[in-house]
Amino acid sequence: MKSPKDMAEESPRVWPHLNHAERGALREVLIHGPLPRAEIARRLGVSRASLTRVTRTLLEHGLISEGAIEQRAWTGRPSELFEIAPGARHFFGVKLTGDAIYATITDLRAHQIATIEEPLASRGTTEVLERIARIFDTFASRFDDIVAGGVCLAGDLTQNRKIVVESPFLGWENVPLARLLTEKLGIPMAAENDVRALTAAEHWFGAGAGCSSLALITVGTGIGFGFVIDDQLVTGAHGRAGRLDHLKIDNAGPVCAEGHRGCASVYLTSASIVRAIHGVDTDYAGAVALARSGHSGALRAFRDAGTALGVVIGTVANGLDPQKVILTGDGLAVWELAQDHVNAGIAETLSAGADPLNMDVQPFEFSEWARAAAVVGIRTALRF
Ligand SMILES: [Zn+2]
Repeated sequence: MKSPKDMAEESPRVWPHLNHAERGALREVLIHGPLPRAEIARRLGVSRASLTRVTRTLLEHGLISEGAIEQRAWTGRPSELFEIAPGARHFFGVKLTGDAIYATITDLRAHQIATIEEPLASRGTTEVLERIARIFDTFASRFDDIVAGGVCLAGDLTQNRKIVVESPFLGWENVPLARLLTEKLGIPMAAENDVRALTAAEHWFGAGAGCSSLALITVGTGIGFGFVIDDQLVTGAHGRAGRLDHLKIDNAGPVCAEGHRGCASVYLTSASIVRAIHGVDTDYAGAVALARSGHSGALRAFRDAGTALGVVIGTVANGLDPQKVILTGDGLAVWELAQDHVNAGIAETLSAGADPLNMDVQPFEFSEWARAAAVVGIRTALRF
């Protein structure tokens, strides 16, 4: 007879309890799948007999399925591939800005299935949580197997991600966001800094899949950094790792809002690029258009931004030695307009003898944020 605990675990609304090997196998198939049994066993360093037990459990929970048969050229023997079961559980993702809630439902492979966007009428914690709960209810009426989720936002969280220490756009301080949402929604909810969430998403489901060491840099309104070392997302002792947006570039440069002379942000943020184009009243889109049309002042602003970006990338590479540097964000025009300057900045900064940098420029959609939040939920479910 099944205990109530077993019954609860079989509910599609509950993420099943998985042991270490089961979570590991699921992770390998998530990141690298579809994979044959022998390859999963090899990656986890377990016997094929053990792996048979592991895959049986995952099959029983409906998390993986036996997919295509791969004919192996070298042995001629067929090998069945395990893949994530289509529609295996759903995850809730929320990106909060100072003005709006962007919410999504993804499957276990982090494919977005549905999205909802709503403006924020108020930034008060209670009101925001209430709005998120209503959006969740809307999704829950369509999907009966939302098992976990994540929320991401600009700002600092404690190292254990339990407390949002400060989120300037929302005006929040010391909010135990993950706990409050978990209580309100009735599913485990994780919270994460938005750039770190994006890094987590790229690490498992994007350009960084398969990299154990990775740097992600976002350019746009601000400059953000996310690092993965030895397959772990780097948070730092106080949740503040990746503060390189005020790296010194030029001692004779202009002064930023925080009072640094010639730091990266005074060249590279969208507002700084606009400000550097003298004698023209424009916005960032206008600045991009001017530079594309050959306006010398606009081109100079983008080239200075490009040089600063190159120094930032080179510094990150020197410190981290990543397999890949992913560049993304809504300010990628700097790459388009000043790639030579970015590369020169990198070359100037990289330490002698360094291997050539593996750069990956990824176009950015705003919907990536909410998806990244769902990925934080997926990774937390797998205790990663
Ligand atoms: Zn600065």
